[in-house]
Amino acid sequence: MFTNLIQIRFFLVTILCIFFLNTAQAQEDPEFFKLRKVLSMKANKLNASLKLIEDPEAEDSIQKTDSIYGKYWDTLKMNPYKSYSLKYPFNIDFDTIQYASPIDKKKVVTSRYGWRWGRAHRGIDIDLVTGDEVRAMLDGKVRFVGYNGGHGRTVVVRHANGLETVYAHLSKYKVKVNENVKMGQVLGKGGTTGNARGSHLHLEVRYKGVTINPEYLFDFNKDNSIRAKDIWITRNRVNPVNHVSTRKSKMPVYNTREDALNGVQKERVVYIIRKGDTLGKIARRHRLSITQLCRINSIRRNSILRIGQRLIIN
Ligand SMILES: [Zn+2]
Repeated sequence: MFTNLIQIRFFLVTILCIFFLNTAQAQEDPEFFKLRKVLSMKANKLNASLKLIEDPEAEDSIQKTDSIYGKYWDTLKMNPYKSYSLKYPFNIDFDTIQYASPIDKKKVVTSRYGWRWGRAHRGIDIDLVTGDEVRAMLDGKVRFVGYNGGHGRTVVVRHANGLETVYAHLSKYKVKVNENVKMGQVLGKGGTTGNARGSHLHLEVRYKGVTINPEYLFDFNKDNSIRAKDIWITRNRVNPVNHVSTRKSKMPVYNTREDALNGVQKERVVYIIRKGDTLGKIARRHRLSITQLCRINSIRRNSILRIGQRLIIN
């Protein structure tokens, strides 16, 4: 008990000493406060930069929720994200594991996402009869209602996770831009407008202007299931060259960033250089730009290619 009291007294005296020394120093030297201020500012700055290193996505995730219906909200353009450059892999979060079927009958996919007739088919075609109702797959807000070239009459709905669903070849609209819609709400009626051979729904799934293979996110079965709540997307799942419209692609779901990064290693397609090849030829054949091809392979545009050399294409 006695020793404790001594300790407490010693402690109090020490505190008082430090306090007096500090004020004495401050009175003696006005630079002291300035210095302390500068030091604390530097410490704050350091903390802030450490925070950024710890969580580079932090700022982005705040922006994500705040500006989904604000930024790049253009009701006149089908794709307002032309200037946006998306970094891979990126993820889509769903707050549900079920979507509402875009049509009221069994979904028959007549053409899939991928390469078709030497061109990219950036959505899937679901069979319907002109006049059938077409419904919103998820809650959201209508961003675009209008005629868009090959798509014909089109409705675009943006959802809270940033995803956009695109419903094309419609015959009639049942919604207006800026309207909030619930999943399952009728958006319009199916048809053949635009470049459609026979009546069907051309359905696209986009994120920041980039189309994703819809079958990577959604199962077009009778359960209307979303394949996972958090899905990571790699270039493979986006690039139509990696898919063909006549066959369903095998696409295991990446649930984490690590999964996606590991997947990218396996997804890589290697090309072995043959006589007469040039970077331009290889790039063209694989729908890449020379710059992309050089970046993936860490080579210069003027590098000399050797026969038998391997280049990563994906
Ligand atoms: Zn189509």
